[in-house]
Amino acid sequence: MAYTEDRAAWFEGQGLWQHVPASDWNDWVWQLKNRITTLDELEKYMVLTQDERRGIAFAGHKLSLAITPHFFNLIDRNNPNCPVRLQVIPREGESIISREEMLDSLGEDEHSPVPGLVHRYPDRVLFLVTDRCASYCRYCTRSRLVSNAQDYNFHPEYEQGLRYIESHPEVRDVLLSGGDPLLLSDKKLEHLLSRLRAIKHVEFIRIGSRIPVFLPQRITPALCDIFKKYGPIWMSIHVNHPKECTADLRAACERLSFAGVPLGNQSVLLRGVNDDAGTMKTLVHRLLQMRVRPYYLYQMDLITGGSHFKVDVRKGLEIIHALRGHTTGYAIPQYVIDAPGGGGKVPINPDYIEKITDEEVVFKNYEGQTYRYPLTNTPVTRTIKSASTT
Ligand SMILES: *Cc1c(COP(=O)(O)O)cnc(C)c1O
Ligand code: SF4
Repeated sequence: MAYTEDRAAWFEGQGLWQHVPASDWNDWVWQLKNRITTLDELEKYMVLTQDERRGIAFAGHKLSLAITPHFFNLIDRNNPNCPVRLQVIPREGESIISREEMLDSLGEDEHSPVPGLVHRYPDRVLFLVTDRCASYCRYCTRSRLVSNAQDYNFHPEYEQGLRYIESHPEVRDVLLSGGDPLLLSDKKLEHLLSRLRAIKHVEFIRIGSRIPVFLPQRITPALCDIFKKYGPIWMSIHVNHPKECTADLRAACERLSFAGVPLGNQSVLLRGVNDDAGTMKTLVHRLLQMRVRPYYLYQMDLITGGSHFKVDVRKGLEIIHALRGHTTGYAIPQYVIDAPGGGGKVPINPDYIEKITDEEVVFKNYEGQTYRYPLTNTPVTRTIKSASTT
């Protein structure tokens, strides 16, 4: 169903936590300490479905349950199909494993020269610096290690990772991820960023984080100063639904942006959350309003217990087709499939081309009308005298 909430409304305030002093509410450590992590805590605030109760009983073996108060406020407690609720409250589907699914669907472990560092592409590495997040997304690609519910026992190896990067001059781009790198203390982050910045061949540093969305309070002036000092630091945030675009997230994006951090967004295409063009269009418009450029729309990875979120690729293509030409070009993410087994991200695009020959390209525009672009250069018969000969 398309998302029809008032486009001008951005969630604001403390919601269910009115009684808490603003100084606590705005403190990211308070938010983390007061996360909802158990069935009992959840049931204090809402009536769960049978499906959810079963999912929660299983979560301890798959991916922990954790929801920050900030994010919990966005859940419609009267609607079991609320798109925010589906992302963070486990359902029974998580315990159902399909044959197509894998624990490490992107073959990351095989592409790790040192623990926690994935070197898949020639010039860039993915550096996993923690296994913890502020809240846990039920469809997480790294469910195998994130939150350690599956006893993967991931121990980030900063020193080994840094040494690998230092000794590989082909690595010009480092992507800090996890888990969520912004859960690290300012001190640890500054250490990592300063070490990376000191490496001459590292031209590009970026952070993948859902903290601005789950815990906007973490984007403190002190953190922004670190980004300023070691910048440019690029950041990909992770918003899937327009309801997640709160006044607090918008303010956090403004602080990041003013500190010189270019912002992109990565969404995962999720059944019942954002698998329709209307919702996606509202989302990308909100992102632009927050100074965030939609970067990728991911086809969901084949993680174990994820089938209840899976969307047909044709639906994804239909959404992209409904955006192109119909809205701002900046608003359109690149739809990708991260190739199962570790082939990297592959762009998936609607096909506008009808025919290419030596003579012409025949293609359709966004409205479905046919156009032609000739590839030939046919001289006209009348030649024009050049000015120098007169
Ligand atoms: C996604 C990813 C990157 C970054 O890819 P870009 O297309 O440059 O954003 C790098 N390494 C790994 C292993 C990745 O999964
Ligand atoms: S924030 Fe990212 S790493 Fe953490 S649970 Fe969500 S998708 Fe996984």
